Amino acid sequence: SAGNVSGSFLFYSDNMNQSIAGRLYLESAMRKALENQEFYLVYQPKVDLASGKIIGVEALLRWQHPEKGFISPVEFIPVAEETGLILQIDEWVLETACAQAKAWQDSGIAPFRIAVNVSAREFTNNLPVRVKEALQHHQISPQWLELEITEGMLMHSSESVIAIMEQITAQDVVLALDDFGTGYSSLSYLKRFPIETLKIDRSFIQSIPSDPNDCAIASTIILMAKQLHHKVIAEGVETREQLDFLIKAGCDEVQGYLYSKPVSPEQIISLLDKNFHT
Ligand code: C2E
Ligand code: CA
Ligand code: CA
Ligand code: CA
Repeated sequence: SAGNVSGSFLFYSDNMNQSIAGRLYLESAMRKALENQEFYLVYQPKVDLASGKIIGVEALLRWQHPEKGFISPVEFIPVAEETGLILQIDEWVLETACAQAKAWQDSGIAPFRIAVNVSAREFTNNLPVRVKEALQHHQISPQWLELEITEGMLMHSSESVIAIMEQITAQDVVLALDDFGTGYSSLSYLKRFPIETLKIDRSFIQSIPSDPNDCAIASTIILMAKQLHHKVIAEGVETREQLDFLIKAGCDEVQGYLYSKPVSPEQIISLLDKNFHT
């Protein structure tokens, strides 16, 4: 059961969610949303623990439906992935994030990375060429862009996956491994892929420091990331206690409601000079 995702309006029942009618409805609503510009991006700061400053942001997709109100990506992204519409949505997100980077670049702001979530389908859909075209089209430095991919994408034919990743990092765009720790895979692939950052999934962060298992998992991921020369970021940090634990464990960066919810581009500007530790 999807339950009532906070802040979102569930306009179809759990049954509808499973039903073909519900998905067809969502699919056609998403097509209209692309045409009618009902989608927009919000940006959540990633804070560097050494300096207390914003080191980058994650672009997160939002959908304001004219009648149904706010619809969460947790509800519509899975349907978009099934129907293939995710390709058009991911394209729109990449374009919009690069247009935002261009606007910031033009206003004289020093580059920081905007992390864009990439679905498995988009990853294998000529992604290096799309990235190249987006950078060229908007005339932005590659230092504005980061891509968040998930473990699932690394599992299939690894040689071609490595080739795709290398064609991206050769353009000075960096890769982060999202939701790290939630996949089933062996860890041996980690050293083979050009991944800069591991993102510890929120599910391991939320019960820190009370749950000793989650504490052990989080500190072990941080330790391993360091030894393999990856940066490590914790997502979903909500409390001071979680932050203190992560600082002690040697985490590099954090992202979460403790510092900031996802906000508008204007709000990001006003946060750029802020020291989150003071
Ligand atoms: P994700 O990539 O793991 O994104 C992190 C999610 O955690 C976001 O939810 C963010 O708003 C939320 N979050 C951040 N800090 C906190 C916190 O301190 N506490 C809690 N409880 N939550 C926090 P959101 O925006 O609802 O996105 C959900 C998922 O939808 C994302 O998970 C991602 O898988 C997908 N998604 C969002 N935007 C896009 C997109 O542009 N493209 C694709 N393909 N997927 C997207
Ligand atoms: Ca993400
Ligand atoms: Ca994530
Ligand atoms: Ca997550």
